[in-house]
Amino acid sequence: MLGLMQNHPLLISALIDFAERYHRDGEIVSRRVEGDMHRYTWADAARRSRQLAHALDAIEVRPGERVGTLAWNGYRHLELYYGVSGSGRVIHTINPRLLPEQIAWIINHAEDQALCFDMTFLPIVQGIHKHCPAVRHWIALCDGDRLPQDSGIANLISYESWIAGRPTAYAWPRLDENTASGMCYTSGTTGNPKAALYSHRSTVLHAYAIALPDSMGLSARDAALPVVPMFHVNAWGMPYAAAMVGCKLVFPGPALDGKSVYELIEAEGVTVATGVPTVWQMLLTHMAANKLRFGALQRTVIGGAAAPPAMIDTFRNDYGIEVLHAWGMTETSPIGSVCTLQNKHLSLPADEQLKLRMKQGRAVFGIDMKIVDPNGNEIAWGTGVSGDLYVRGPWILASYYKGEGGDPLRGGWFPTGDVATIDADGFMQITDRTKDVIKSGGEWISSIDIENIAMAHPAIAMAACIGMPHPKWDERPIVAVVVKPGQEVTREQLLAFYEGKVAKWQTPDDVVFMDAIPLGATGKMLKTKLREQLKDYKLPA
Ligand code: ADP
Repeated sequence: MLGLMQNHPLLISALIDFAERYHRDGEIVSRRVEGDMHRYTWADAARRSRQLAHALDAIEVRPGERVGTLAWNGYRHLELYYGVSGSGRVIHTINPRLLPEQIAWIINHAEDQALCFDMTFLPIVQGIHKHCPAVRHWIALCDGDRLPQDSGIANLISYESWIAGRPTAYAWPRLDENTASGMCYTSGTTGNPKAALYSHRSTVLHAYAIALPDSMGLSARDAALPVVPMFHVNAWGMPYAAAMVGCKLVFPGPALDGKSVYELIEAEGVTVATGVPTVWQMLLTHMAANKLRFGALQRTVIGGAAAPPAMIDTFRNDYGIEVLHAWGMTETSPIGSVCTLQNKHLSLPADEQLKLRMKQGRAVFGIDMKIVDPNGNEIAWGTGVSGDLYVRGPWILASYYKGEGGDPLRGGWFPTGDVATIDADGFMQITDRTKDVIKSGGEWISSIDIENIAMAHPAIAMAACIGMPHPKWDERPIVAVVVKPGQEVTREQLLAFYEGKVAKWQTPDDVVFMDAIPLGATGKMLKTKLREQLKDYKLPA
């Protein structure tokens, strides 16, 4: 027997319709590429998204076809999120920090019909447009009078003149909720990048999940600042969840340095901000150097890479800011787990609580997680043994775009490539990525543990631990570090700092001092590059 309830598909267009109807004067503030601040409301965003849908009709982008973006976080990018997906096309957000030839490869693989870009990225577009024959229109996200006359790009139009004067009413199609809505390529640290293809259903369910109190806990009273880029797994879903709850949205544009982010947080009364650890490191360094305090900020969501405990501590103890440590990946939309404590943990001593907060947390409803041994057998929770992390759920990838790489699932579960433990309460902790684990004498050493200890040393700004080939032990860990400006630490002092914090055999064999650790396109440490840079390195005898 079927239930007798209305069968409304879960559609992205419903999110913007809702925000317009129930939160029409809710603010959206953007720092623009032009340098100034732009302010408008959810009602304005909804109206312009519909004009954009007409503009897409006018250039005959068909249902299901891809529209690429090379853009910072801002209101026009938000309109593309809703106008493109709402009208049945697929928004394909591209990471502009990739190499131009990678960007061209991705555009061609996705067969983007139109490509919308911030003027910052004009040089990239000028370099690649001839290599992307399928792109019929290049759309600069600017006013008509800012369009360069001599760009050399055929079919270049300005976004503002493209949507100007279009009707403000548009009948969003009633799509099947499993229709594709968005596309995001993994950064492809191994092999060619592969794309996750999100659906309306997976996107809306994910938005519900991140808004929950034990996730990001979003409400209409929040002012949310996604520092994490809209080209990085849809800014972790914030642009959708913000419409769902009707909160204020604050977009940082291209200015992601500590000073700019701090000033934006203060000027706009931001209550919740999301980003990767490197962004927060820049913010905290700026605040400490200038003895600054936060006004309205209540919580930060830190994910994309392990949040160092020293960072969690500083936010909480020095500034009274709640840290939500979250885990996810492109293939998981991205949120899989968020670390919020349970009632019984609140009476634990501070150091016990910190140990829990360092973990990547509990699965949010919709996600199921397990860890497995090398034979694929599930490892029981609470044993302390780590294994390969597998996940499943309605916003987890089932297959890559174009079936690339074959069937990724194992018995219905997605193998994440992360190594983790799960404690008796279901709190998951990432100990490594499969390819970064250091195998020393048959035992595993967690590179994250080694990095966290170095990061807790007052003189260290950044640390990356990698394994080096060793004739007897297979591999031994070394730690590459960047020292904070004006600080000093010797190799011996840093190695002594490990005493009592890890077993002797887990202590790195050496410290390599560097000016910078190579970062990938999403601001995470790029260990493949680091290994390359250190290819002539020899372990001390
Ligand atoms: P890429 O795999 O190209 O870096 P993603 O942005 O999808 O692209 O990264 C997902 C990976 O980032 C995860 O598989 C995990 O290794 C790492 N990651 C994400 N969040 C965390 C976290 N909170 N702690 C540790 N690692 C994390």
